[in-house]
Parts: sequence; C-alpha cells; structure tokens
Amino acid sequence: MGIRPCIEEARKKQLTGSQGHFMRIAICREYWDSGVHDPEKLVDLFRAQADFNYEISMKAVLSVIKKREIPKIRCSTLRDNSPNFVNCDGCYFR
Ligand SMILES: [Zn+2]
Repeated sequence: MGIRPCIEEARKKQLTGSQGHFMRIAICREYWDSGVHDPEKLVDLFRAQADFNYEISMKAVLSVIKKREIPKIRCSTLRDNSPNFVNCDGCYFR
C-alpha cells in the first residue's frame, strides 16, 4: 500500500500548531502502515521541518508506534482535524 497524496503533500509543508501536530502523527502512522517500521526512518520523515529536533521526534515516533494497533488515519478524519494541511483531490480513497 502506498502513501496517499494528501499525506505526501502535507509532509512537504511546515506543520505548525495543533493541526500540524495531528498531521505529524498521521504521517508516522501512514508510513508505518506502508511497511516502514524503523524508528530512525520514521524520524527522518520530519527532518525538513523548521523545528526539527532529533530527540523530540524520536520520542514522539516511539510513542506513536508503541501502540498495539497503528492503523492509518482516514482521509475524512485528516480533513476534519487538519484542514489547513490536507488536500484530498488526488486521493484514491476517501
Ligand atoms: Zn486524502
């Protein structure tokens, strides 16, 4: 399963505030779901963020992936929670 366009687009933006925080969790879960299970690789997803901090990112990634189930977040939920960062025009499922 690939990465949805809305997730890829959002990852290129500066994810600020509570909407940005939600989006970062969504990106982490999306990549996990697509088979990226190495915490280092998940942290790497956020290196382009202006506020990138390795220790904080690693802590956040580990807290997301410690859960027993880590399903990707539905497009409709992404749009509800992070409307500033999500555009689902190119998504294959909504
Ligand atoms: Zn979408």
